Order: sequence, then C-alpha cells, then structure tokens
Amino acid sequence: MNRPPLATQSIEALKGVGPETAKSLRRLGVDVVGDLLEYFPNRYELQLSERPIAELVEGAINTARGEVSAVDYIPYPKKRFEITLADDSGSLGAVWFNGAYLRTKIHPGMTLALTGKVTTFRHLPQMSNPKWKIIEVDDLPAQGKSIFKPVYPASADVASDKIARLIGEHIEDLLPAVEEWFEPTFIKQRNLLPRQQAYRWMHTPSSDREAAAARRRLVYDELMLMQLGLAIGRRLRDGRMSAPILRLDKTLDERIQGRFPFKMTETQLRAVYDISRDLQSGRPMNRLLQGDVGSGKTIVALHAMLTAVANRMQAVLLAPTEVLADQHALTISRMLAESKLRIERVTGRTKRGAGKTPLLAALAKGDVHIAVGTQALIQGDIEFANLGLVVIDEQHKLGVQQRKTLRGKGSSPHYLVMTATPIPRTLALSYFADFDVTTLDSLPPGRQPIKTKWLRSNLAKDGYGFVRKQVQQGRQAYVVVPQIDDSDTDVASIEKTFESLKNGHLAGLRLAMLHGRMPADERDQVMLQFRAGEIDVLVATLVIEVGIDVPNATTIVIESAERFGLSQLHQLRGRVGRGSFESHCLLLSDATTPDATARMEAMIQHSSGFDISQMDLELRGPGQFFGTAQHGLPEMKLADISQEMELLAVAKDDALALLADDPELQKPGHRALRAALLAKFGEGIGLSVVG
Ligand code: ADP
Ligand code: MG
Repeated sequence: MNRPPLATQSIEALKGVGPETAKSLRRLGVDVVGDLLEYFPNRYELQLSERPIAELVEGAINTARGEVSAVDYIPYPKKRFEITLADDSGSLGAVWFNGAYLRTKIHPGMTLALTGKVTTFRHLPQMSNPKWKIIEVDDLPAQGKSIFKPVYPASADVASDKIARLIGEHIEDLLPAVEEWFEPTFIKQRNLLPRQQAYRWMHTPSSDREAAAARRRLVYDELMLMQLGLAIGRRLRDGRMSAPILRLDKTLDERIQGRFPFKMTETQLRAVYDISRDLQSGRPMNRLLQGDVGSGKTIVALHAMLTAVANRMQAVLLAPTEVLADQHALTISRMLAESKLRIERVTGRTKRGAGKTPLLAALAKGDVHIAVGTQALIQGDIEFANLGLVVIDEQHKLGVQQRKTLRGKGSSPHYLVMTATPIPRTLALSYFADFDVTTLDSLPPGRQPIKTKWLRSNLAKDGYGFVRKQVQQGRQAYVVVPQIDDSDTDVASIEKTFESLKNGHLAGLRLAMLHGRMPADERDQVMLQFRAGEIDVLVATLVIEVGIDVPNATTIVIESAERFGLSQLHQLRGRVGRGSFESHCLLLSDATTPDATARMEAMIQHSSGFDISQMDLELRGPGQFFGTAQHGLPEMKLADISQEMELLAVAKDDALALLADDPELQKPGHRALRAALLAKFGEGIGLSVVG
C-alpha cells in the first residue's frame, strides 16, 4: 500500500505523544498515525461551550466569558492587538493579528465572550484570532457559538479530548492518502460525500448535518465492502463446487406428494419447485427456507429429501433438540410406513461404544436412506455412502462452525436450512447473503389466529380454569416454566410448579413433565403419550420451544413470561394453533419494567413472526438476536445492521450491480476499492492480486 510516510509512522511520531500515551493508544487499537483516521467518534456533543477559564480544554475550541482586564496594541510586527480576559477562575490571553481596528472596539472593563482554539502561551491559556462578542449587561445568558464536538471512545489513560486534539491537528495531513472507492458519477447518483470529505466531517464536523452525512458515507462503504466480499466469495464457491444432480419429474413429484396426508399449498409447492431447480443445477444448493411457526416447512423439506432418495442419494435431517429430532423421525417414519425406505434416528447414544455400530455401518454402506438426528450426528467420524442433501431445521440454533463441518462431509451435498424465527429481510441480506431465500408466506388452510392474553399472576386461577375447560372439550395444553440455567434448581422449579398445579388449579387432569435433564427414554415416552392424547397437560421447560407439533394442543400457558425473550415467546406460542381448533396463549406475568411490558404488548399486538422478529431485532440488536457466538457477521466498525436497514438493502443491490459491471474490479476507478477488499478478505477471496 502506498500510504504517505506520516500515516504509516508509529503513533509516537506525533508531538505530544510520549511512550505512556502511545501505550494507551495502542490499547485502543491505534498503532500508527493512520489508524487515527479510522478511530471514529461514537457521538457528538453539542456544546454551548462556555467554560470557566480555568477549565478551558487545550487544543479544543472553547468559549470563555470574562471581563477585559488589559489591552495592548503592538504595531510592529503584524499589528498585534492583545487583551487579557479574566473571570473568577483565572485569566486568558487573546491576540489578533492585523488587529488595529479593534483598538476602537474593545476596551478594559467590558464583558466579552471569546470563541476559539485554546493553546498555551507562557503558561497561560491563549486564543489566537478568536471570534468575539460584546456582552451587554442584559445580554444574558450568553449566546456563545455552539460547537459540535466529537466524543471518542476513551480509556482511563487517554481522554476523548486528547484524541480529538491529535486527530484535529493531523487530519489534514492524513486525508490526501484517502483514496476514493467509487466512480464520480456513482457517488453523485447515490448522493454520497467524497471519501475524504466524509473522513473530515466524521472527525471535525461543524454541524450535526455534516456529521450525519459523513457517517452515512462511511457506513455505506462498510456495508458495501461486506456485501462485495460475500458476493465474490460466493461466486468463487459456486464456480468451484459441483453437487449431485437430483432430478424431479412429474411422475416422481406425484409419487412423493401421494405419500403426504394432505394437499400441499400453492406456497409450499412454489418452495418445492425453487428447491428442485437448485437440486438439478449441478451446483450445491444453499437455500434458506423461512416461514413463520406452523407454516408447514417440514413437508417441503421431506419432499426434497425424497427427491434425493429417489436419485439414489442419502438425506440427513438435523434438528436443534433431541425432542424435535424424535418428532421428525416419528413423523417421517409414519408417512413412509408403507415404503421400503430405511429411516433411522441417530442419537448421541448410537455413536457411543467401541467400533462401528451396525447403524453406523449401514449409514456408511448407504443402506440407510434418511438419517435424523441432532448436531451429535455430525460430530466425530460418521460416514455416508452418498450424502446428497442436508436439511437443517431451525438453523439459528446451530453454530456456523457446525455448518462448516457438515459441508465437508462426503462430496458436496445440497444444503437446505429452515428457520421459523423469520429473519428480517435486511438481516437476511447480510447474514444469509450467501443463501438464496424462499419464504413460506402463508399458513396451511383452516388456521385460526391465536388469541393472546396477558394475565397478572393473581389471575392465574382464571387462566388455569380456562385450561381445564379446554381439556374437558378434548383439547390438550402446555404449561411452560422458565429455565434460568442448567442447574438443579431449575428442575426443582419445574417440579414445584408441576406439584402445585397437580394439587391445585389442575387437580384431576392427566399431567406430565418434560425437561432437558430427564433420561432420553423417559422423554420419548412422555412425548409419545402426549401425542397420543394420553396426557392432558404437559408442563415443560424451553425444550418445547421449537418445532413441537401436536395439533390437538390448543392452549399454552407461559409462567413468568417476562423471563423470555420476544422471539422465544413467539416460538412458544407457535406450539399451538397448528390445527383447525381455536387456540390460546396465556402470558402469566407481573412484568413492570418498560422492556418486559413492551414484550408482553408486542405479543398481544402482533401475530406475525416477521413483525415480532423485527421488533426483537430492534430491542436487542443483531448480535444477541442470533447469540453472539454464532451470528457470524463480518465485523462492523460503524454500521449497526438493525439501524441501517435501508442503506444495507441499497448496498447489497449496488454490490451486485457493481460486480456485474466490473466483475474483477479492473476499472481504474475501482482500484482503491479492490485494494480494500483484498486487505479485508485476503487473497483467498479469489480476486486476482494484480489488478
Ligand atoms: P413449521 O413450519 O413450524 O415447521 P410444520 O411443518 O411443523 O410447521 O407444520 C405445521 C402443521 O401444519 C403440521 O401439523 C403439519 O402437518 C401441518 N401442515 C403442513 N402443511 C399442511 C398442508 N398443506 N395442509 C394441511 N396441514 C398442513
Ligand atoms: Mg418445524
């Protein structure tokens, strides 16, 4: 990179930066002088900047007010007009060059406001050529010129003001090295600031409008870089990898649909055909199937799995929990009961023990057509004869790393990810930028909206009375108890609720418990009984959060609902309303905090998962939305994806258009952009290094 010397010099090169300050700055990530440019303020303070003279900030622009205690005029050299301004705290010198005209205007005894940059001269604070204003006696409060001051992330050792001063003093020397990324016509079209101007105004704006314009340009650049990186990375992958061609013709389609107990909806069929186009393309499918809870994703996935099997390939279905894997295995086995296909549930237990179990051997030989399990299925050395399709249910529960492991198994399989936490469109644009997205945007026929109520705990009796009535009508219900962590106290808390319901509000009903610490066999047993209608009310922890599908269950009571996140609440609510019966969600909560109250009200007002997750995203930000460990977003310095929705969408489209126009970024106007991409993503991204 051809930075000018100053930018690449170590930070100590600057006047006023000793070894100690340098060390502190390094801890903030500022190593060489050029890093200062990228050290962005996190906010600006509108400063009505009057300060007592003793508290003026050196290096910054300040306003001081005081009485003129002395004046002096020195005609030679430079016609200097000097004054001393004093207030209760101290005194300040001011000097104007070519100041002869001031002799008739400023006199001792006047009150003045001075605004200017403060330096030190002979141990006294001084301003050179400050702006000045005479303060009349009744001219209170002073209308000092307001100043827009950047506030930098600071540490105990380096204050924001110190950083501001360093940047302020050197920014003009650093700016010439900042190169433009885009062509002038494009910048104009997008109404963006030139890059240099953006850096200047980011650090030294004189108004909030300048700061906002600067930020917009730099956020845009950051988003654009990310989108270009993802798009180029994807282009590389698509070009290199091949995948088995899985054909679907009319006969096969009819045969597959003939297995299903209901008619697929138009929406589901559209998804099936999206997927089938990918499966026949010869390149690995990378598709996200998103749809609200209960939208009927499973059957779409099963269609794809059966297509794979018909093409003599194996398919794998991964679920986030054992309970959900059990359910999938059961549903699929039932639907395919009359076929000759071998469907196997693979658990952690399957893999324990020395040597290959018969099941593992069957997978490796290709005798098993469909394998269902949790992540456990892909950890360690499991082999497939010919893995054609991997389906992952509720993707946001699986880490990025695990997805990578999977990708590596066998010859590159097709890849279908399902999520019922609908990803807001803009987040999908970034996180899932390398996915194609299909959305199930309507529910299967006959569904009724779920009625949601918020009850204070003193009305719990009424809530449970309602559950009792539903059970009398032949329906079933869930009661969900919050889970604080994995400790034993949790089990205690669910047991306590269970016992008190059994002996109290729900006495006489058939109750059972379900939680993550039960032995797997016992859990299976309970789920089977609940599904068969032999249990009326299931008292459970979050283990039922995703995917559980028992259409006869029509009421869900959520205890201490304030303890759950908004998306969780929506997921839990999705356990009911899965058949044609009217369904109910009762939130029991004494929530008082604004945040908890907002969640309860969002649940009452919104029934669409898209609205809910959009709100959740806004309340929590994208990192937490996915769990920090697994969000996998490229690191952003400035952009906050939950806030920069519009710009992100624009950047995504622009990135694709730019690549279509200049695939290798060879145009002279894109030279700096290409260098930035290589710097951020490395040569592995597949842009040739010589541009
Ligand atoms: P999710 O998208 O939450 O995974 P599921 O696949 O579990 O939803 O489907 C929810 C319920 O809807 C299931 O009971 C399923 O059998 C039923 N279902 C799915 N598709 C249809 C359809 N086309 N007609 C009727 N019921 C359907
Ligand atoms: Mg599901």
